[in-house]
Amino acid sequence: MSDLRDLYQEVILEHSKAPRNFHDLADANHKAEGFNPLCGDQFTVYLHMDGDAIRDVSFQGAGCAISKASASMMTQIVKGKSRAEAEKLFERFHKLVTGEEPPKNGEDLGKLAVFAGVSEYPARVKCATLAWHTLQAAIEGQAEATLPDDE
Ligand code: ZN
Repeated sequence: MSDLRDLYQEVILEHSKAPRNFHDLADANHKAEGFNPLCGDQFTVYLHMDGDAIRDVSFQGAGCAISKASASMMTQIVKGKSRAEAEKLFERFHKLVTGEEPPKNGEDLGKLAVFAGVSEYPARVKCATLAWHTLQAAIEGQAEATLPDDE
């Protein structure tokens, strides 16, 4: 298990050092800001939506390794997805990082699986979910993400 943990840390560090889709989006038609006061993570998520389809997504801002890596991987995963698919992914991701529903045998979570370890550190859950809350706010046309108190 410790080897797996090292691998997870490597993936998170790699994404935080070289985040993907880390820029603003000239043709964005949705945009929201997210702030995690517990850690100081702050991001803007940009979306180009075509009806219910996420054609393009990017982010900018600053934060800890977990928050940045989470935002980076989120943009990779939701690009090209529908709004409903993105919301379903967030729901699953949320249960993963809070420990409510650990990864199941045979379940394909893709890169999101690297965040399962966050469930051991409740204070870091918001670091991992910030980008997703911000994405959701952007999809819903809100300017700012609201982070729930109970996660
Ligand atoms: Zn953080």
